[in-house]
Amino acid sequence: MKRIKIKELLQSKEFNKEFVIEGWVRTRRGNKNVNFIAINDGSTINNMQVVVDVPVFGEESLKNITTGACVKVKGLLVNSQGQGQTVEIHAKEILVYGTADTETFPLQKKGHTLEFLRTIAHLRPRTNTFGAILRIRHNMAFAIHKYFNDKGFCYVHTPIITGSDCEGAGQMFRVSTLDFNNLPKTEDGKIDFSQDFFGKETNLTVSGQLEGELAAMALSEIYTFGPTFRAENSNTPRHLAEFWMIEPEMAFYDLEDNMNLAQDFVQYLVKYALENCKDDLEFLNNMYDKELISRLEFVVNNDFKRLTYTEAVDILVKSGEKFEYPVSWGTDLQSEHERYLVEKHFNKPVILIDYPKEIKAFYMKQNPDGKTVRAMDVLFPKIGEIIGGSQREEDFNKLNDRIKELNIPTKDMWWYIDTRKFGAAPHSGFGLGFERLILFVTGMANIRDVIPFPRTPKNAEF
Ligand code: ATP
Ligand code: MN
Repeated sequence: MKRIKIKELLQSKEFNKEFVIEGWVRTRRGNKNVNFIAINDGSTINNMQVVVDVPVFGEESLKNITTGACVKVKGLLVNSQGQGQTVEIHAKEILVYGTADTETFPLQKKGHTLEFLRTIAHLRPRTNTFGAILRIRHNMAFAIHKYFNDKGFCYVHTPIITGSDCEGAGQMFRVSTLDFNNLPKTEDGKIDFSQDFFGKETNLTVSGQLEGELAAMALSEIYTFGPTFRAENSNTPRHLAEFWMIEPEMAFYDLEDNMNLAQDFVQYLVKYALENCKDDLEFLNNMYDKELISRLEFVVNNDFKRLTYTEAVDILVKSGEKFEYPVSWGTDLQSEHERYLVEKHFNKPVILIDYPKEIKAFYMKQNPDGKTVRAMDVLFPKIGEIIGGSQREEDFNKLNDRIKELNIPTKDMWWYIDTRKFGAAPHSGFGLGFERLILFVTGMANIRDVIPFPRTPKNAEF
């Protein structure tokens, strides 16, 4: 008999019919006459209660059914008289696939801290919390593809190994097959990368944007969704060395269109979570963050506040708030500043635009004032920056001048500059950090808790 998933069986009204479920034991409790086994198979946060007539099975044959063991149960579906569930299974046959020793199984008891669970990343998907987070992650990934597909955007795969280091020199992870113990050298004593696998220096990508722009110059509306890597040594609750990013890039969009898309996109995703991940969100709301669901609803139902960087700095300077990092026109905003604007001043998500060109990337469209660029950052409660984007500079001369001003070597990105020579189009795009989105949707406080195997400085165990 084929198994039925617990999520489906919990909805069933086919009483007194036989079903097979398979899953992991969360708890077994009871007495000499009757046992109750809670089984979870990951299809939902809810467990199926299995009722066992102990004398029929014999106590000895039940001794391996302990927390963490994997079992197959065949039994009758009945209307439950107990509290907490509407249906239950009355067991006829139980098969233990895999035991879990009560002395050594780390999840024997409930109530472990999230910090402890990080040290057992190989087992934490078995907890209610991580089951919920992984299901929400899946739902968000699916909703991202659905959103763009419904809008006619084309999913483009950009390379993970890149030969251009224009965006984050120094913050990149080197990709090489050279023998580190015997590095080939050039005549002037430098490492000879011409002997490396690709015949040049290569790194893991920090963003798919530049390649995304190339595709947008043909397909007009595209998005990427892939892993990105940053070797920045920042041990914060919001940074990973390996994270996933969604980067839409659109021809014929100005900054206004870009902001509209960003707001609509994030609101769609949050609404999707509210509609499709209800049980998991309710669990997280009750366990970790009593304001989670109301915060999600608020974001879906309210426009994001839009203002310029200059206006924002003005508000921060006049706020009288004591910030750890002082703020003045020209400084990059820190998370504390972003959160002040979002959580204290406006009490809603904020989109800041027109940043000083010195603190933003070379490719952003220059404003006529000569000082600012058409950048936009979307700032969220509890997170700070969730999206960074801009209208791109499509003018060949302006882009070239900026590249020269910043001394960016052009030998590795002539192909990018080419797009400004052949059929250049006004265009815009942004990057949404997938894990920052998941942080917001789940209400978790640390980004290490929303990705199965976090990569952070000094941490790549699992
Ligand atoms: P931050 O200032 O927070 O370090 P950033 O400005 O360097 O971010 P961008 O280059 O604009 O980031 O990348 C786009 C988006 O990717 C960010 O808005 C954020 O959501 C996400 N992101 C950036 N760096 C990381 C990281 N190290 N870990 C997880 N997400 C990140
Ligand atoms: Mn940014």
